[in-house]
Amino acid sequence: MSDSEVITVAVVGASFAGLAVLKSIIRQYKQVFLHWQKTGEPYKLGRIQVYLIDPKRGFINTFAIPRAITNVEIAALTYASLDDLNLPYSVYSTEANTVKREDYDTDDAYNEAVKIDQLLQDRIEVRFIQGTVLEVYEHHLLIDDMEGDEIDLPFNYCVYVPGKKRLWPLNPEGFTKSSFMEEIYQAFTCIANSQYVTIAGGGIIGCQVATEVKARFPDKSVTLLHSGHAIPSLSNRFNKEDDGELPTTELQVQALQKLKEMGIDVRLNSRALREVEIPDDKGRIRRYVLTKDQSHVRSDITLWCCKNEPITYPLLSTSLKEAVSPTDGSVLLNECCQVEGFPSVYSLGDVSNLQTMMNEKQLDLSLETIFGLVISSEIVSTNIIKSIVNAQNPSLDKKKLVRIEEVAAVAERVLGKDLCSAQHNEVVLSLGPEHCISQSVGVYKDETGHLRLKEGAVATDKPDVLELLKDMNTKRVGKLLNINFYDSDYQFKDTAPSPGTDNVSKNSDESSKKGSSVHLDNESNTDDINLEKGIGLLNQLDNLELADSDDDSKQS
Ligand SMILES: Cc1cc2nc3c(=O)[nH]c(=O)nc-3n(C[C@H](O)[C@H](O)[C@H](O)COP(=O)(O)OP(=O)(O)OC[C@H]3O[C@@H](n4cnc5c(N)ncnc54)[C@H](O)[C@@H]3O)c2cc1C
Repeated sequence: MSDSEVITVAVVGASFAGLAVLKSIIRQYKQVFLHWQKTGEPYKLGRIQVYLIDPKRGFINTFAIPRAITNVEIAALTYASLDDLNLPYSVYSTEANTVKREDYDTDDAYNEAVKIDQLLQDRIEVRFIQGTVLEVYEHHLLIDDMEGDEIDLPFNYCVYVPGKKRLWPLNPEGFTKSSFMEEIYQAFTCIANSQYVTIAGGGIIGCQVATEVKARFPDKSVTLLHSGHAIPSLSNRFNKEDDGELPTTELQVQALQKLKEMGIDVRLNSRALREVEIPDDKGRIRRYVLTKDQSHVRSDITLWCCKNEPITYPLLSTSLKEAVSPTDGSVLLNECCQVEGFPSVYSLGDVSNLQTMMNEKQLDLSLETIFGLVISSEIVSTNIIKSIVNAQNPSLDKKKLVRIEEVAAVAERVLGKDLCSAQHNEVVLSLGPEHCISQSVGVYKDETGHLRLKEGAVATDKPDVLELLKDMNTKRVGKLLNINFYDSDYQFKDTAPSPGTDNVSKNSDESSKKGSSVHLDNESNTDDINLEKGIGLLNQLDNLELADSDDDSKQS
């Protein structure tokens, strides 16, 4: 094997998709290296250098933000700093690839593993750049390093996964854990200092935010504005009626009832347009949300839980703009997850049209969760490793790239057969710390061969589900991506407010209101999570060991 060539992979965005791809690339590189080491086959495999680029020096479990903005304790658990991301072969997480004696049955096996690890240390390097990618070209990118300098980084392969642009308060910058805590605290204070709180957008996230606010501050007037006819809006792709409308599900009926019981003013078919200021009869300025039907809803603070756009500005000033969808602004991919027309650049996750492609092809149900991201990241990393091998060994038969149609086989390899064949799933809607609604769903093929969704029984406030939602799945996300969020012996405090604890100043006019200048022309619940998406599948994570599960240098 040649040691001379260095392959550079640039990963733009260090969140769910970025971390999953990075860890998978390293795992697969190790597998190929070890295989060739074992067989002694004379193939080339250059060194690999992976750059991870993100303005955040850490990882935020976004699932927990609705609770974090009303509970600072949860916020603190939700951010994992760079050292806790277990980045392999990096200076940031030195423990991440330490070979531990207890993992091996015999001294010989352990010594062999140490030897291999030393070889790998020379061949793999992971670096983190705290910065914002400004422009992406076919073979290099431009980074603002946040200290006033620009870095031009050439790459062999790029994985473009910057997600979607979200609105306050769902978009903390989170440059560091302490700045994240300040942002969350600011959001918390704005909410606490407002008497009239409006949530714009009744998707799963909007419902979660509304119920968290009402549960934490029962005395506040909380209004949920939703453009659709049912909450939460669920873009169930299977059961659309001929006119494109979705029938209201039992989960939606019960969700509406629960929100009303909690005292939330839910207004359906009421699209929030923008915030306006109107003086009252004493000349005091009052804030309102203007809706499409021209009504004004009193709102000291508006939490926008709608309208998210894929982040594509780094592509728009380069030739890659050709690959940005003119209809929904997503990055268009081919079937191998390469950006259409640019085979050196891959993408997946929220920024891409991968989900739409999978929906159109009616691919496996379970791929719509965070599992889906991990599985699709496996497609991307497999294809990058295959491309490296193909490029370095022209005399070998060309390895065919994996296509998304093969996703079921990839999923089975990554997650194991049992987990993948689990076509039965549970959708969970968290409604504040005390309540939740869950529903089992399954899929079946109708007489025309199309997949249809079959709804199971709806249950409210299941104790086991509430227990799992205590940290809003942070620990589970940590397990899936091998991130250390907090110690397992952590004790949660009782978060339910006792009556009368809503004693923060209600002088809303003077309060600072970050985000109150946000103006929207229309509201679309683009972040609706598909009915079958939910977070139910995360429940199956407990027995799952993904990290390095295929590393055959380890003994059981
Ligand atoms: C409040 C909330 C709750 C949610 N709950 C659920 C849930 O319960 N279940 C579920 O399945 N999904 C849920 N989702 C959706 C889920 O979070 C997304 O599907 C997931 O985050 C997508 O991952 P991603 O890596 O593609 O993008 P993101 O997680 O958005 O990450 C993108 C990363 O790229 C970085 N970045 C952005 N621009 C640049 C740039 N120019 N240069 C470098 N880096 C950049 C960002 O800082 C960020 O770290 C929720 C989303 C929100 C907002």
